[in-house]
Amino acid sequence: MASRSSFIVDHAHKAHDGAFGYGYPEIPARVDSIMASLERTGYEVEEFHSEPRDAIVSLHAHDMLNYIDRFCSSMDDSAAYPPVLPGTVRDGTGHPRSQTFCFDLSTPLARRTPEAAMAAAGLALEGAARVQAGTKFVYALCRPPGHHAGTDFFGGFCFFNNAALAADVLSKQGSVAILDLDYHHGNGTQQIFYERRDVLYVSTHADPTMAYPQISGFTNETGAGEGEGYNFNFPLPLNTDDRTYLEALPRAMESVWDFDPDFLVISLGLDGAMGDPVGTWSLSKESFEKSGEKVAEMGVPTLVIQEGGYNLRRLGDDVVAFLDAAQAS
Ligand SMILES: [Zn+2]
Repeated sequence: MASRSSFIVDHAHKAHDGAFGYGYPEIPARVDSIMASLERTGYEVEEFHSEPRDAIVSLHAHDMLNYIDRFCSSMDDSAAYPPVLPGTVRDGTGHPRSQTFCFDLSTPLARRTPEAAMAAAGLALEGAARVQAGTKFVYALCRPPGHHAGTDFFGGFCFFNNAALAADVLSKQGSVAILDLDYHHGNGTQQIFYERRDVLYVSTHADPTMAYPQISGFTNETGAGEGEGYNFNFPLPLNTDDRTYLEALPRAMESVWDFDPDFLVISLGLDGAMGDPVGTWSLSKESFEKSGEKVAEMGVPTLVIQEGGYNLRRLGDDVVAFLDAAQAS
């Protein structure tokens, strides 16, 4: 019989490190913070490693992978922020030389970034495989995060869309709802599934009129074509506290209930927490517990993918608050 729950990590995430610049928050210590809290609580976290290049190119443009590889292999031990101007750059002969795929100025690449990004994707895919094999609850401690990465763009500290890769695999076996609880809208995940009805995307996030990524996450983005009516955004004010959040959460969950999914994929971001250097909300542990309870109430096989969360003093404890509640049933 498959075990009831399973927690996985890949320490190859440490390959994504370097001279990212003062204050850059997406650092290896995030995983240390989460691991410390999980271990203190008595959770066993299993190490798993894979390099799922073929699976990644089933969802992401081959050219984007090649671009990331080329960019990174040209570097020494430093890190650099890739150019963001879209389109094809031509060299002196007029031939296309390279294309840019990054959509912001906040996503540094280091020499070994591809190893880490691929490992995170591998962890998400292993999570999906375990859920398919009968494990009821899987937590994949992915780093770097993934929900800002789309089919042919990356940014927002993300390179490959871990949650989307997992959801795509699960969708071969049944309907999938992705519930994105990160402070930021998952523009990549939304783009990937925007015209599909077999994968629902529901997100609570800070109002993109003011908050990153600013280009998507509005209520009128409801899907297109076959996917019309399978995308729900719940933008919330920049000063959202527990009360505002817990009023909005049931509305978001209602969309998930209506869809009645066979599988649930959670993009778990904790950057809505009070004091997060990236977010502006003031959520306490209670909000993470309550959202965990809502997930448990669904009672369907669930894969939790780690996304953002940057306040190292509380990140691990907030993750545990969610996971404890999400498994209780
Ligand atoms: Zn975030």
